[in-house]
Amino acid sequence: MPITDVVKKQIAQKARLHMKICFYCGARNAIAATRCRKCRNGNLRLKNRNVGAKK
Ligand SMILES: [Zn+2]
Repeated sequence: MPITDVVKKQIAQKARLHMKICFYCGARNAIAATRCRKCRNGNLRLKNRNVGAKK
């Protein structure tokens, strides 16, 4: 189901993809987080995937 509305798509991307994922336990953290909220591990990666590759 493709999302055609650009504004809705941007909201969805921001809400679901712009976050950090802990390398250690895989928990989602806020984009501003420096350490994991769950295990306090400092190894966080950005989850910034491009949406809309599939048409
Ligand atoms: Zn963690």
